[in-house]
Amino acid sequence: MSREFDVCIIGGGVTGCAIARELTRYQLTIAILEKQSDVAEGTTKANSAIVHSGYDAKPGSLKAKYNVAGSKIFEQWCHELDVAYKRNGSLVLAFSEDDLPALEQLLERGQQNGVTGLSILDRDQLQAREPSVSPDAVYALLAETGAICSPYDLTIRLAEHAVVNGAELFTDCKVNLVEKAGSGFSLQTDKGSFSCRTVVNAAGVYADEINNQISEDKFAITPRRGQYWMLDKACGPVFSSTVFQLPTKLGKGVLVTPTVEGTIILGPTAEDISDKDDVDTTAEELDKILVKASRSWPNIPRNCFITAFAGIRAHCDRDDFIVGESRDVTGYYLAAGIESPGLTAAPAIAVELAELIVERLDARLAGDFRQAPPAIISFRESSNEERRRLISEDPAYGRLICRCEQVSEAEIRSSIRRPAGARTVDAVKRRTRAGMGRCQGGFCLPSVIRILSEELGLEPTEITKFGKDSKVLTGWLGGDQK
Ligand SMILES: Cc1cc2nc3c(=O)[nH]c(=O)nc-3n(C[C@H](O)[C@H](O)[C@H](O)COP(=O)(O)OP(=O)(O)OC[C@H]3O[C@@H](n4cnc5c(N)ncnc54)[C@H](O)[C@@H]3O)c2cc1C
Repeated sequence: MSREFDVCIIGGGVTGCAIARELTRYQLTIAILEKQSDVAEGTTKANSAIVHSGYDAKPGSLKAKYNVAGSKIFEQWCHELDVAYKRNGSLVLAFSEDDLPALEQLLERGQQNGVTGLSILDRDQLQAREPSVSPDAVYALLAETGAICSPYDLTIRLAEHAVVNGAELFTDCKVNLVEKAGSGFSLQTDKGSFSCRTVVNAAGVYADEINNQISEDKFAITPRRGQYWMLDKACGPVFSSTVFQLPTKLGKGVLVTPTVEGTIILGPTAEDISDKDDVDTTAEELDKILVKASRSWPNIPRNCFITAFAGIRAHCDRDDFIVGESRDVTGYYLAAGIESPGLTAAPAIAVELAELIVERLDARLAGDFRQAPPAIISFRESSNEERRRLISEDPAYGRLICRCEQVSEAEIRSSIRRPAGARTVDAVKRRTRAGMGRCQGGFCLPSVIRILSEELGLEPTEITKFGKDSKVLTGWLGGDQK
């Protein structure tokens, strides 16, 4: 028997979860079908986390339209969902007088796209704003509306909010086949059949494979990998702004940016690869990042690197986002080719797609739309007075599981018990930061596994890092102990 919904959304990244949250404002039954064990496991978990102001996208493109519109509503969304957001401003550095016209072109392009708060700084103004930037940088384009955020936290909170308003989240639920069935659709998944009146393709790098099953309006997505270095917060608040470089004949420069968590990232690379799931990092590309990033930040403290990671851009052969109802299949909606600035664009894409779907289904506003559940209380960010109160109410706040990031047992249990709650070690990490600090989980991993196994009623050997066959423990020493 197939499960029936008004809307099935394929993909639980920032795009799919944002669309789901917007649709729950209406009287609709909604399913999010995600092939991984958690939301935000695709591109959404590994990117630069920049809310772009919108000077980069080609005027007239959908990227420009949704970037600028998304940037305008992003802060409000983060505020509503209690997600970290910082309007830190971004800079594009130019290292030669000859590059000034290129910076001016970027500024004009931004103005054409409707971006406000753009100006060009000279070396003195730049050094006054960012003393750690290389003095070799002679000019910089300042975009005051540039910001940073936490992409996975936003996505998790969107999923939680959608779920408390009735959306159903199916994880480990790969959609294998989408077909037209009467006036609606039939979907075959790892968790059985689903039928729906409308379907949304928000499948990231796999959006082409879904699309080309059902539509004659075909396209192809090339996975374009971006690798990064991450530096520990111990190196201090070196930069306040996000620091890009002007692309040169030698290639696209890399960025240096603070994150909302207080770490610093350097990257990304841009490599077209064949495997859509290949998020390996390579010594060769990481070395290149160091060389390029050193142009912006000459004194990169090598003792502060804590990890490297990679994400995959969904680069579409149409070189733009594809957003809206399919040209040839009524009731089938796309949010495809959502490469950068797709994170920034997600809120605007979601609002527009939700409006189209609501109109098609003639749906009414839900009378009982609920606020998002409160975010997990952060022991790390609490004052000493708040900490004392928390511990007196629940002693589990007094048991620190992750010492690097000061994450308590109470937070980890809360991350599992919530709507769209954590089921894996990485899901706990993204909700609480346990394992994201300097030791990268070396200390807290066994405790996180123990708590997951207690909360989920599973053996520790059944707990996975990120679902499927990513088990952390292989068995018991000395036989079949329990
Ligand atoms: C290196 C890099 C840097 C970037 N930097 C920025 C930035 O600073 N600012 C910015 O605005 N944007 C940035 N982006 C782009 C941004 O990260 C993406 O546009 C955004 O995360 C895309 O979200 P999504 O939900 O569309 O895709 P995803 O997050 O990939 O979500 C798609 C989901 O679909 C699921 N899925 C796929 N196939 C199936 C199936 N058959 N059945 C069920 N589920 C399926 C996947 O598991 C995945 O969870 C960057 C991207 C990269 C790679």
